[in-house]
Amino acid sequence: MSRYSRREFIKAGVGLGAASIVAGKAAPASIQTTPATTGVVRVVSSGNGIRATEKAMGLLKTGADPLDAVIAGVNIVEDDPDDMSVGYGGLPNEDGIVELDASVMHGPTHDAGAVASLRNIRNPSKVAKLVMERSDHVLLVGEGALRFAKAHGFKEEDLLTEKAREIWLRWKENLSEGDNWFPPPPEKMAAELRPFLFTYGTINCVAINERGDLAGVTTTSGLSFKIPGRVGDSPIIGAGLYVDNEIGAAGSTGRGEANILNLGSYSVVDFMGHGLSPEEACLKTLERIAVKTKLEPRLLTEDGRPSFGLNFYAINKKGEYGSACMWSGGKYAVHDGAENRLRDSAYLYKGK
Ligand code: ASP
Repeated sequence: MSRYSRREFIKAGVGLGAASIVAGKAAPASIQTTPATTGVVRVVSSGNGIRATEKAMGLLKTGADPLDAVIAGVNIVEDDPDDMSVGYGGLPNEDGIVELDASVMHGPTHDAGAVASLRNIRNPSKVAKLVMERSDHVLLVGEGALRFAKAHGFKEEDLLTEKAREIWLRWKENLSEGDNWFPPPPEKMAAELRPFLFTYGTINCVAINERGDLAGVTTTSGLSFKIPGRVGDSPIIGAGLYVDNEIGAAGSTGRGEANILNLGSYSVVDFMGHGLSPEEACLKTLERIAVKTKLEPRLLTEDGRPSFGLNFYAINKKGEYGSACMWSGGKYAVHDGAENRLRDSAYLYKGK
């Protein structure tokens, strides 16, 4: 990895002083990679990730690093204007500007990188990986993240597609009867551009290679029509993504605020570390979040359950996998090395 060369640079005393060496990240060379345990290869993703699991598996089978594999997988969805929850074509903030969040975590080095509120760059997952590899930081936000991306050669582009702009405009025009924005007459409005409520959506992808090394990525345009600068769970290590190479990997989609407050992905990995299966660990984490949500009545249904969606995806060191959602009906994508298909997620509550 590239930080080797930085390490060499520092060791040679060419660049930074001793204090900087102390403050620097641990050298990858000092980290032991767990020896192969199972030989299984698996890729797990959110329900919108069936192309990502296919792509990542293809790369894993050629011996790619699991982080490179999952990033290449989610790049397909980041580039797809029809997935309006991720990357190019994602729904914008309340000002009509697309702001993206992403994180990556690499099991063998226990290192991570993330960006938040990043504008004008369609593949925030690639920038997150560069934050991990080419800076001494874990999370860069907003203008600083954009400048970092541009320094690494990323080109700015407008990420707002015509369809996303129209949906945003309908939302804005329908906010209030008491402002100066008028929606078009209903007959002029395409069905697909009906006024949108706030929507969530994200892609998470986690993988294990045949050496037993794990990695994960989560990337999103976040909550639609959010307040500019709002950051969800996706770029928060421990919330939207967590990997422990000795135990497993987990990631999430859904209401980021609830997940940040409970560090859900860390919790899933921790439960797996205490012997729970991936599915049990996802359910146990959702249970814990449901209990805490009882302190927030505005987020509860009449019968006291969380009124929001939240979903976890997990894989353990043996290659076992699972997913669970707060509410029934969720699916997730799994490539088990032989077959790539959507499976039903477990759930905490059955919806009506
Ligand atoms: N978790 C994302 C966020 O809160 C959105 C989602 O997954 O739906 O930004």
